[in-house]
Amino acid sequence: KVRVRFAPSPTGPLHIGGVRTALFNYLFAKHNNGEFLLRIEDTDQTRFVPGAEEYIQKSLEWVGISPDESPWNPGECGPYRQSERKGMYMEYAQKLIDEGNAYYAFDTPEELDAMRERLKKAKVATPQYNGITRMQMKNSLTLPEDDVKRRLESGEPYVIRLKVPRKEEVRLNDMVRGWVMVHSHTIDDKILMKSDGMPTYHLANVVDDHLMGITHVIRGEEWLPSAPLHVLLYQYLGWEDTMPRFAHLPLLLKPDGHGKLSKRDGDRLGFPVFPMQWADPSTGDISQGYKEDGFLPEAFINFLAFLGWSPGNNDEMFTLEKLVEVFTIERVGKAGTKFDYDKAKWFNQQYLKEKPDTELAQYLLADLEKEGIECSPEKAALVANQLKERVVFPNEFWPEGKFFFQQPDSYDEKTVKKKWKPEAVEVLAKYKDAIVAMDNADFNAASAKSTFMGLIEDAGLKLGQVMPALRLAISGKGMGPDLMIMQEIIGKEEVAARIDVAIE
Ligand code: GLU
Repeated sequence: KVRVRFAPSPTGPLHIGGVRTALFNYLFAKHNNGEFLLRIEDTDQTRFVPGAEEYIQKSLEWVGISPDESPWNPGECGPYRQSERKGMYMEYAQKLIDEGNAYYAFDTPEELDAMRERLKKAKVATPQYNGITRMQMKNSLTLPEDDVKRRLESGEPYVIRLKVPRKEEVRLNDMVRGWVMVHSHTIDDKILMKSDGMPTYHLANVVDDHLMGITHVIRGEEWLPSAPLHVLLYQYLGWEDTMPRFAHLPLLLKPDGHGKLSKRDGDRLGFPVFPMQWADPSTGDISQGYKEDGFLPEAFINFLAFLGWSPGNNDEMFTLEKLVEVFTIERVGKAGTKFDYDKAKWFNQQYLKEKPDTELAQYLLADLEKEGIECSPEKAALVANQLKERVVFPNEFWPEGKFFFQQPDSYDEKTVKKKWKPEAVEVLAKYKDAIVAMDNADFNAASAKSTFMGLIEDAGLKLGQVMPALRLAISGKGMGPDLMIMQEIIGKEEVAARIDVAIE
């Protein structure tokens, strides 16, 4: 049975890359009738940020990809927070030590600094604690056995390090990248257990993936360099047979393609990088998210899916359900994928305009209420119908459609200059008289149109010479939805009154 996990560290708000990882895990799980778990990786307590975990939970809920098992919805493999699993890891570290694949190290921070300094002076490009340097350091591979014992017994602080072999090729067959081969001399003797008794990410991640029955590890490319180390751990712990398959998702790049998209880019580039609003607990700073910007979860998901995946044809519109049906890792690309905020907006527009008018009307009604303007649900639905091709976000219905409810407070200058001509104004005046004379019940889009067209013809003018003036008088704008339907919605008296004001 396929079991995958999303394993965020609660070190801050979940950002777009994190939600993408969660979504791809979800899609892969559901496509294969499998399970999607969430595990909180909070072993680094110095980086813990209050509120981050709740934020992750709420964000996934909003997106609609809630996990099957998680700290707040535990299954059989709990606990789902690594800090609560603290007691489970030493056993495995001990096994590694007993079998000669890990060792105690007693180096002080000063000694480690001095080692790095020495290596830097010797022009070593990436100073490492490895097969060579470990021999000059203070650890159970260099100290006499009883010395090690004495130090441990006296409570001297220590860490446990992986004993990475000197000359070995570590291979893994990544589902996205294919065969990845790394020479073991490029891998550090990574710390597995810290002096505070907490495991590091590497040990905890591998142990938990094993104990939780994880079959596939789908995560961002930034974790690819750690993968060979994890492969070694699986080997040494005797879990090679059930080692999960890896799939490293391509990097998200800045909109211009230069460099990795970072959490800081949002504010600078003018688009959200968080799914929901985040209030930084240390500064109180608020970052708006996709939700607050007015994104619909279905549009957000559709957009996210295309960050690294493609269906292999030109189809673009995929609901979550559809994605589950068609998603495979084979269609995830290797190349970094450019983040295009305009595309996100485009998706939102597509989904927004597909919603029923009565639903769209609710957005408008909510804003109208704030403005203290009364409006029937029927009228709001008619207005929403006229505007839905023109808005990207729900909160644009009111600003875009003000003129359906209010006399314009200004007139578009460019249109005034080009189209507000005496001959047009003359037709407007006649048109106003004509509709005032009309029975209320007879006034609608069709009668407005025929009356207006008749007068234009009588005046020997063309549509383009008068129409913009009428639009200007009614809405104050140079462009907008169908002018005749607009008049029917606004009503005869109000249209006449607005023309009056405009031609005064
Ligand atoms: N805790 C890691 C993170 O914050 C998880 C990486 C992984 O999926 O292995 O992304």
